[in-house]
Order: sequence, then structure tokens, then C-alpha cells
Amino acid sequence: MFFKWTFVFILLCLNSLVADQPWCHSGCEASPSFWSSLPDSQCGGVRQSPININPNHLTFDPGLQNLTFRNIDDPNIIKYLSNNGHTVSCVLEYGIVEVIGGGLSHAYTADSIHFHWGGNIWHPGSEHTVESVRYPMEVHLVALKEGWTMEQAKTDPEGIAVFAFFIDVSYSSMYVEAWHTLTSYLLNLTMKGSSVYIVQPLSISDLLGSVDLTKYYRYHGSLTTPACEEVVVWTVFKETNKIRRKLVERFPLTLKYRNTYRMVQKLNGRPVYTSQRVLVASEGHAGSDYAFSRGSLVSILIALSSMLILV
Ligand SMILES: [Zn+2]
Repeated sequence: MFFKWTFVFILLCLNSLVADQPWCHSGCEASPSFWSSLPDSQCGGVRQSPININPNHLTFDPGLQNLTFRNIDDPNIIKYLSNNGHTVSCVLEYGIVEVIGGGLSHAYTADSIHFHWGGNIWHPGSEHTVESVRYPMEVHLVALKEGWTMEQAKTDPEGIAVFAFFIDVSYSSMYVEAWHTLTSYLLNLTMKGSSVYIVQPLSISDLLGSVDLTKYYRYHGSLTTPACEEVVVWTVFKETNKIRRKLVERFPLTLKYRNTYRMVQKLNGRPVYTSQRVLVASEGHAGSDYAFSRGSLVSILIALSSMLILV
């Protein structure tokens, strides 16, 4: 009997090792250029994410009507925060927040929220780019097809819906209480695997601010971390939520993970849809990974012109 249970234990450990292959965004053997070599990886596929969104190559889809996020104001929705070895994840009370409409073929249930960030203000860290401009941060609200587990959802081309929100920086003294609350817990999450319960009320809508939920891009892609399963309906919101620069910097400074984003992937002919009929192509931007965010660039220009006036 002892040998039997020992064998089962070893098997479970091996299964766990296979399921939890080590990978990283940088600084380890399994960095992004090697993700496609990992077991069961789809990272070398033709429907990968993130992508660059080019406003001149969008297709207006009148079916992309308003999205409804039910119970997004629930102040007790976040069960706890955890450090999963790659980012901070907000684990949600499952089955509370439901997303419907917006041209989605199914209802989806929110499962978790996580964040992608850069190194510092000079190296922003959103995953999607717009006109090759990278924003300081990106928030991903991950939702599963209603009633499905994560494992089931990963077997369906539309099993997972991810709602992406860009975070830009503000140099003003604007106070966003939700982000102060959230980032105040980062010091409790410096160890991989650590987790912490949130005491204060904190809803998803508090974190997303006043982003216009009717303006968004839609395409079919993948998870942006291994195994990069091509099972995601992406909704990328056009408007940004602005928070203080110091709060954005708390993520790389406190957690030591830097540049937690994957480089943009080829579209391979995939259409990218927009919910807005009228599109105005804004001024061109350099396609650089080190590009300034729009907000930071404007703020820097304002600061420089103030200095010139003073001089
Ligand atoms: Zn993500």
C-alpha cells in the first residue's frame, strides 16, 4: 500500500511539473522566443496575442453594441490578491460578474484580473499597442464562457473572453483611491505564491474608472502567456484610465518583475473590428518598444514648455 501511494504522489508531482512549466518574460531559459518549444504550446500559432492595433486598418462592426458588466460595482468581488510568479492576480468571487452583449456570442463569467507593466516610466508595459505606442500598463479582466471551467474553456475557440484596459499616467495630484488601496497591498506580495486578502471595499468599476465601455476593438486571438491557447475573444477598450505615475511604478519596484508583457504578434490576415463608425487616424507615432506613452509625452511637453516660460 505504501508503494502504491508513493507512486500516486510521485505521479501527481510529475503532473504538476508538466502543467506548471517554468517560463518568464525575461531572465530565464524559457523566455518568449522559446515559448513555442514548451510542451503543448500554441505560442507559435497563427492567431496569437497581443497585437498592434492600427486605426487605419479597422473594420466597423455595427454588431459591437454596448457591453453589460453585471455586478461590476460589487465592493466585495475580489476574494484575494496573489503573486503567481509572473504578475499580480486578483482572484474574484466566481459567478458574480457576468458580461453580456457587445457582439459576444455567449455570456461570460469573470474569473480574475491581472496586470501587465513595464520597467519604469521610460519603459511602458502594456501588451497591446495602438499605432505602435505602448501604454504604461494594461489590465486584463479574464472571463470564461458561462458555466465552464478554465480547462473546458481552453478547448473552445471562444471559451475565454479577455477585456483589456489601458492605464496611462497622470502627473497631476489626482487621487484614485482604488489604485492606492490596491497598490498598498503589493508589499505583502513580494514572494512568489504569496497572497493577501483585501480588507477595504474594492470593486472592478473602481479600478477601471470612467472608461467609455462603448468604444472598443475586437479580434480573435490567444492567451498571452504559455501555452498561448488560441481560445480568446479579445475586447480592447480605446479609452485609458489615468492613475498617478508613482502608483504605476510601484508594480515593478515592489514586485521585481519587469516588463511583464509579450511582444506584439503578427495578425496573419485576421480582421480587427471596431465599435465606432467614425474613425479619425491620429498623428503618426514611431513604432518603438521604448516609445513614450501618449499621456507621459504630453505631460513632458507641458513641463518643458513651462520651464521655457520660466527661463
Ligand atoms: Zn494578461
